[in-house]
This record gives sequence, C-alpha cells and structure tokens, in this order.
Amino acid sequence: MDCLFCKIIAGEVPSDKVYEDEDTLAFLDINPVKPGHTLVVPKQHFANLEEITDEQLAKVMSTVKKVGESIKNGLGVEGYNVTENNDPIAGQVIPHIHFHIIPRKEDDGIKLWPGTPYEEGEDQEILSKIRIF
Ligand code: AMP
Ligand code: ZN
Repeated sequence: MDCLFCKIIAGEVPSDKVYEDEDTLAFLDINPVKPGHTLVVPKQHFANLEEITDEQLAKVMSTVKKVGESIKNGLGVEGYNVTENNDPIAGQVIPHIHFHIIPRKEDDGIKLWPGTPYEEGEDQEILSKIRIF
C-alpha cells in the first residue's frame, strides 16, 4: 500500500523515533506546531477511528500517555494537546490514523477553536440525532 506512515513504520522512510513497541510507534512531526510535536501511530494500517480496532486503539492511547508524560518532563512544558484529525474534512492529510501530541506553554500563541452557544432547542435536536443510549 502506498502509505507514508506504513513506509516510516517499515523503515523505508526515515523518522526521528521517540518511542516504539510491538504495536505502536511515536516519531517527531516533520513540520511541528511547536518543537517536540510528536505523532503516535498503530503499526497496523487503519485509516481512521472507524477502522481501528478497540484493542489497537487502547495500545495507541497507552503510547500517547507515555509520550505525553515524557514530553512534559523532558521539555518542561506545562501541558499538551492531543488531537486526531478524523477524515479529510477534519484536516486529515495522511490516511493512516495518528494522534498529534502538541506541547503547550503559557503565552505560546496557540488559540483553540472558538465556541458558540446553542440556540433555543437546538441542543435537544442535535441530541436526538446523535445520542447513543
Ligand atoms: P494530519 O493533517 O492530521 O493528517 O497530519 C499529518 C502530519 O504528518 C502533519 O502534521 C505533517 O507535518 C506530518 N508529516 C508529513 N510527512 C511526515 C514525515 N515524513 N515525517 C513526520 N511527519 C510527517
Ligand atoms: Zn499506513
């Protein structure tokens, strides 16, 4: 399959590895939002959250947790964002699921998305469409 992250996992494309185990790999993003921005991927190819198995997702999240702690301690940052762009409309460019870990500091200039309150009744309408239980 012609997948850049599968090639990185196979060692066919170089990467700056942060962590590796049997099921997951973490490596530096080549174009970091902030220095230390790291990507965590399953070694098996899954496009997105709909495709990945619960078992593999749990392993990926365990690696996210490990690497997040290492970024916090190693870089002395106060926190980090974990994001996953799920599908092209959400900004996913590489169709091999990956979690971004972005180190955060006070006054680092990064702004998160703005929120807009619901109109009257809009929350219930939305809820009726997406509620699972
Ligand atoms: P996304 O937009 O969520 O699919 O994120 C893809 C990320 O992969 C971007 O942040 C890119 O900077 C990063 N990226 C692309 N090519 C490479 C590469 N060869 N090594 C490391 N990171 C890469
Ligand atoms: Zn892949």
